Amino acid sequence: MLELLLPPPVDPLWDLTEAFGADARPERLNLVLGVYRDHTGGTPVMAAVREAEIRLAQRSVSKEYRGLSGNTAFNRAMLSMVLGDGGASERAVAVQTVAGSGALRLLADLICRTRPGTTVWISDPAYVNHRPILEAAGLKVRTYGWLDSEGRSDAEGMLRDLAGARRDDVVLLQGCCHNPSGVDPDARTWEALASLAALEGWVPFVDLAYHGLGDGLEADLAATRMLAERVPEMLIAISCSKNFGLYSDRTGCAVVLGASRQSLRHVETALQNAARTLYSMPPEHGAAVVTAILEDDGLRTAWRTELDAMRGRIEANRAGLAARLGALGWDTQAASLARQKGMFSMLPLSAEQMVRLRGEFAIYGTTAGRINIAGLPSDRITCLARGIAGVLER
Ligand code: PLP
Repeated sequence: MLELLLPPPVDPLWDLTEAFGADARPERLNLVLGVYRDHTGGTPVMAAVREAEIRLAQRSVSKEYRGLSGNTAFNRAMLSMVLGDGGASERAVAVQTVAGSGALRLLADLICRTRPGTTVWISDPAYVNHRPILEAAGLKVRTYGWLDSEGRSDAEGMLRDLAGARRDDVVLLQGCCHNPSGVDPDARTWEALASLAALEGWVPFVDLAYHGLGDGLEADLAATRMLAERVPEMLIAISCSKNFGLYSDRTGCAVVLGASRQSLRHVETALQNAARTLYSMPPEHGAAVVTAILEDDGLRTAWRTELDAMRGRIEANRAGLAARLGALGWDTQAASLARQKGMFSMLPLSAEQMVRLRGEFAIYGTTAGRINIAGLPSDRITCLARGIAGVLER
């Protein structure tokens, strides 16, 4: 049997990570993977998470099966956090998933069960796993523009492309801190997107992976909440990997909004059936931790404070990099970097320049130009700015 297996495509991010591992230069800098790092270069367990884990360990009595929707208190907490209490969350169903990726896949399966072969529109550029997840579920994928030639949000191009989306198509939008570009639409463009969706009847599918790491938790959720109030149906994939630092605990949630409670009557069972054939039940630990934090005023405040501090470090890194690049004479490039938000930045470099950045300066970003700005140690900002200037100069 196995002799029939064709060589599979290699994930370019893991390829780069391997190349980084084999790089013996002491100054090597890995900015490839999307993981928050503190000033020491580590990815610590958040203090609120640690405290919640201690409390859970003290009162844990059983690891019995939880059910196909996972931890229901967690699901309620996710609805409340993302949509607020009342309003849109009254006409929503939520099930716990295996992190954000699991939510994307489960919702893709739901779309397929509802209407096989549906077209889902994704941004160009998109999160590297959007297309593979959607296609693996049997969906068709088309793209809409995201950036103009100067690396700004291209509202006009996006709305022009999405004018081609038909009724019952699905449009996947990252709710904030767009991966890979760090560029988000402004509030007017989000409003225009909501109007277009309401008018044409396509379904927004919001991917939330970085809320809290852009402009702050509420601000980062504003576009999702506005959309939820304006359209009858909507899908939301929520990841707790980054904003709770629960990367390996695989914690997330899939949310479906319907025009009414009645329209949602088959949704939870359909999601449960999809989960049953994929992985059965999601892991409990991360969901229990998040619930313990969100249900306790003290832990919730401590978590928000830590999250704000993470966001502050990301902002300081980005501002520092832009300032140093500007000081080296690359003002336009610096201004474009300074406008970006969230964990990622797109460097103003071509694929060939990114390869040179790796070869000449031991600085690893993706070939498309994405770097994890949250992975940059503060004492290496100048070195990164010099590397960028170095490849821009020659
Ligand atoms: N969506 C986006 C835009 C992402 O960048 C990521 C991870 O990097 C995910 C979803 C999936 O996150 P996870 O499955 O680790 O929760």
